[in-house]
Amino acid sequence: MYIRVAVPIPRLEPLTYVVHDHEGVSVGFRVVVPVGKRLLTGTIVEVNSTPIAKAKYVEEILDTGPTFSPEMIELARRVSDYYLCAWGEVLQAALPNGMQPNAVMRIRLERPLSVSELEALRRRAPKRAALIEALEESQGDVTVAYLQKKMMSSYVSDQLEALLRDGWISIHQERVRQTKSRMIRCVTPSKALKEDDTLLRQTLDSLDRHAPRQSLALAFVLLHFVETPIPVNYIVEQTGVGIGSIDALITKGLIEQSLRDYHYQDELGGLARPDEHQLVLHDQQQLAYDRIASTLHASTFDVHLLQGVTGSGKTLVYQRLIKDALSAGKAALLLVPEIALTPQLGDRFRAMFGDSVAILHSRISMGERIQIWNRIASGSIRVVIGARSAILVDVPKLGVIIVDEEHEPSYKQEDPAPRYNGRDVAIMRAQIVGCPVVLGSATPSMESYQNALTGRYHHHKLTIRADNAAFPTIRLLDMRQLHKTRQLRGSFALETLQQIASRIQRHESVLVYLNKRGFATQIQCHDCGNVEMCLHCDVALTYHKHPGVLKCHYCGISAPFQHACQVCGSTDVYEIGTGTQRIEEELTSALQDYCSRTPSIARMDADTTARKGQHRKLLGQFSSGHIDILIGTQMVAKGLDVARCTLVIVVNADLSLYHTDFRASERTMQLLLQVSGRAGRRAIDQGMVILQSYSPLHPTMQLCLDGESRIDKIHAWYGQELQARQESGYPPFTRFIAIEIRSHDEVAAQHHAEIVFAMLPKDDRCIVAYPPMIPSISRIRNVYRRVVIIKNPREHDPSGQKCRSYLRSLQQSYHKHHAAADVRISIDMDARGTL
Ligand code: ADP
Ligand code: ZN
Ligand code: ZN
Repeated sequence: MYIRVAVPIPRLEPLTYVVHDHEGVSVGFRVVVPVGKRLLTGTIVEVNSTPIAKAKYVEEILDTGPTFSPEMIELARRVSDYYLCAWGEVLQAALPNGMQPNAVMRIRLERPLSVSELEALRRRAPKRAALIEALEESQGDVTVAYLQKKMMSSYVSDQLEALLRDGWISIHQERVRQTKSRMIRCVTPSKALKEDDTLLRQTLDSLDRHAPRQSLALAFVLLHFVETPIPVNYIVEQTGVGIGSIDALITKGLIEQSLRDYHYQDELGGLARPDEHQLVLHDQQQLAYDRIASTLHASTFDVHLLQGVTGSGKTLVYQRLIKDALSAGKAALLLVPEIALTPQLGDRFRAMFGDSVAILHSRISMGERIQIWNRIASGSIRVVIGARSAILVDVPKLGVIIVDEEHEPSYKQEDPAPRYNGRDVAIMRAQIVGCPVVLGSATPSMESYQNALTGRYHHHKLTIRADNAAFPTIRLLDMRQLHKTRQLRGSFALETLQQIASRIQRHESVLVYLNKRGFATQIQCHDCGNVEMCLHCDVALTYHKHPGVLKCHYCGISAPFQHACQVCGSTDVYEIGTGTQRIEEELTSALQDYCSRTPSIARMDADTTARKGQHRKLLGQFSSGHIDILIGTQMVAKGLDVARCTLVIVVNADLSLYHTDFRASERTMQLLLQVSGRAGRRAIDQGMVILQSYSPLHPTMQLCLDGESRIDKIHAWYGQELQARQESGYPPFTRFIAIEIRSHDEVAAQHHAEIVFAMLPKDDRCIVAYPPMIPSISRIRNVYRRVVIIKNPREHDPSGQKCRSYLRSLQQSYHKHHAAADVRISIDMDARGTL
């Protein structure tokens, strides 16, 4: 029988092979096949295909059942077609993170094979049989390296994975535990209160009168206690009451204290949360829910844009939809921008759906991953939550797909192929499955907004905050003016410092946000003007005061700071830019003059959250009041829901406006509204946001002045921005495509960029090509880059099909006629605007 096999090699269409009929393979099986001189693992995408002369035999069949469903095979085909990569590359990306042989893995044979089993395996998969024999011989756990040596081949990982999935072997990973378990203080309601309803009512009544905060804390404990003691920190975080109130309850014997050993992961995950089952949808939620649920029940494809202000209750709508999907015997997929940054969201879904939820993140070990994968395939996990790659997980019987914060740039994969956008693949997938997809956001992407305007997507709007929290007051400070009148101190306006101080005095917390771009501190020489640059990349080095190193954020190298200019040797060097460390110093010293007590300040950035669990820990300390001021970059803007945070400062609100990215205004608007939404999420106290801006009259700054309270202004802003995009020919009116040319040789990079540009049509309305340009970072890790930009106007090529087939043939003929050893080209469909 002839079969077609998709292999993970760029530009390669599926290849035809021969397999014996009795092997019983079908579409979705993985096989090892010879490609040139190599052996590769590919996936069968067609059986009984047209015979070809000289087709080679399949080396080995890896699976006993299909790894991919027909639905996934079809999705991968569409993704490869749209993003101009190989079918096999997409399928490879969809695997549960392949076997990355690593030193801490130990392989164990689960049980000896009988002679006949081994015989059968030998016929079908000689290599796997040899592996089993090697394991039998070794009589104990062995490393991957041992097996590679024994087999005289480094290519054992796919075979091991197949054996693992069939249950012949198990893999043990010595886990490096990064966070030690620690004892934390927990409480449970006293026995008397649990058993005596009358006593309970009397107690609450009397507390209500004399100690309302204690009453709040006690009510919370009673409401949330199921079996697990509740950490004190968690109560503080959720209710905003002080530790003192809880201690008072303990002293009165109303709650009992215990110490428990929690691993960081279990901290909150397993606990009951406010019972969201019980909440009643508000009118706007109900309206949106009803319409989406009807497409869910009809199993029809539809795209719903759920535009809801921060705190409007989008998550509750997701939960209800997922619940419906489950009760209809179906599954659900929820995409979130960065799983590590949204621990609170994961907790809420765990609380509601318990064990049927899988939260996929990059730190799951390979063994666990395969286990989860199997449980998803068997239907015991039916709610899958993950970042963009979760869209490629083969979840059977999908009933609904939800993309939260659909506008986030992190949905776009940059490198390697497939360079897909998780949101757009979600739509392709929903189309194949026949189910609704929900795109949720407070600030939709221009693309989705336009699709909602033209009626391609249903548009649902949530304009009120479900939790009754008031929208924050927003102050837009004109920094130019304040500079003139000397009302600045370093990066801060005096008014900002006063506001911070007053919150600190009231024991409330403050979030200080640095707009992403320009957050780095660099070193410049006073004498020659030299800015210290990376030797391998075309970027300035970032100065990290502690521990005194200069670091490249692109290639990762770091070197001790010499306090001297590398060009002229002058020691008159100084810091430029505003890094989080510098802001921390400025605040510490300035606040001494404004506050009677010294606030505790922490930074949240890539440096302070590198270790596992660190991010969550900082959030926890911030919400429990152990940190008064949290300084951070966009990491702090996400998913932070902290009761006591009543003031948000944006130090450099407009920095991201002046960027060459055509999405600069859109991103600024999204970031500022998102970070503003962090202020005063509880009704107790109205929050305040201070935007320090050097261009307060910019329309995007003016929009932010009203924050999310004026939905009409937000819509008007979208209208203006769409018009600007249309006039300058940018998405959503065109598809923005970047062809990147890379080489260690700068001349070659330029030369090949010109070749590529010359190959593009100049008089075709479907393709508007721009001459090669030098991207803002022209060299990374000593590889030079050039970019050729293409715009594909939708008006002339609605589906983009013409442009794609053109680019496909360009790929082929470039490689046939011009390919050079040290030059790589890659096509990025719907590329980011920052090049
Ligand atoms: P979003 O995802 O839109 O930012 P959330 O779903 O996180 O908003 O909702 C914010 C808060 O409001 C949550 O604490 C949630 O439990 C609560 N909430 C949501 N919907 C309702 C409702 N209908 N009634 C009461 N509280 C609600
Ligand atoms: Zn110098
Ligand atoms: Zn570098």
